[in-house]
Amino acid sequence: MKKIIQDYDYNGIRGLMQSLGEPEYRAKQLFLGLTQGKSVSGISVLPASLKAKLSEQFEDKPIEIIRTLTASDGTEKYLYRLADGNIIEGVLMKYKYGNTQCVSTQVGCRMGCKFCASTLGGRVRDLTSGEILAQVLTVNALHAKGKERGVTNIVLMGSGEPLDNYDNVINFLKNVTSPDGINISARNISLSTCGLVDKMYDLAEESIPVNLTVSLHSTTDGERARTMPIANRWSIAEILKACTHYFNRTGRRYIFEYALIEGENCDERHADELIALLKGKPCHVNLIRLNEVKERELAAASEKQAYRFLGLLEKGGLSATLRRRTGADVGGACGQLRVNYLNNGE
Ligand code: SAH
Repeated sequence: MKKIIQDYDYNGIRGLMQSLGEPEYRAKQLFLGLTQGKSVSGISVLPASLKAKLSEQFEDKPIEIIRTLTASDGTEKYLYRLADGNIIEGVLMKYKYGNTQCVSTQVGCRMGCKFCASTLGGRVRDLTSGEILAQVLTVNALHAKGKERGVTNIVLMGSGEPLDNYDNVINFLKNVTSPDGINISARNISLSTCGLVDKMYDLAEESIPVNLTVSLHSTTDGERARTMPIANRWSIAEILKACTHYFNRTGRRYIFEYALIEGENCDERHADELIALLKGKPCHVNLIRLNEVKERELAAASEKQAYRFLGLLEKGGLSATLRRRTGADVGGACGQLRVNYLNNGE
């Protein structure tokens, strides 16, 4: 594979242009074109000779949308093909306040959560920071209206474990929040982790105050280990300590994801245990009914159960919401589109 030009920040592009003997304004034109989601060949102000030189070194299109599915609620799901032929997926959810894009950070995942489709074939490879950024630039360009951004919020909740691809993800966060580029505020970005505690401490030191989201899904280490192998490495107590540290360093409230799985994690005892764990902490609980994955045995809690669980948490003094399952009619949970495509070509 050739190099990915979207891996470069503005200084990197300047250095590249200098090394090719190009004037400074070419760096500006190139960087602006890339920020607008164009491929190098599509930046019309650049001379053909420069494009030819760049195409020797760099992929023209690090990612390409090969399919878009639009749900009845307006949610769009994308299948992307990477330059090496690998397939990843992502989502754009439309809300009153703007558009939230869900991006992938790895091809596949090696965390092995029992409810998740992304991890079914293991981890194939990490994405480079430019491949993560190119998802945002491409989808932003599709939806931008004049000066108004097409993507206002980003969640790192697609395929992959962001903290298992730490350096590339940090580089992505630096570039996507840079005033030189698309400049999306860190406050509008959420990073979701299954709980790689050592990396959560590292993240707190990066001075990129993104919202930290942890996939909890259980109230005891023993039960958590039944669906999340990472629970054998880090305990819930260690996760909570790392969250408190993150809050102390960044001032950001943290969020727990909790997928309601029938017969597994959402009876009254679990509500009590969750309240005991989280009461008084500067956090929020996002409940979601499990998106059923056909390769997996687990079933979603009923809507009635979900509202009951939510009610119990609220009564116990937690801040919690039940997320609606956006785009459920076009392929459910993250990872399902890719798995269907790889298995059946559909
Ligand atoms: N690896 C990261 C981010 C990717 S998953 C993490 O674990 O947080 C994004 C969220 O979707 C996580 O909370 C994950 O646990 C959840 N998820 C995965 N499969 C799901 C499913 N089938 N139904 C509901 N949520 C699911």
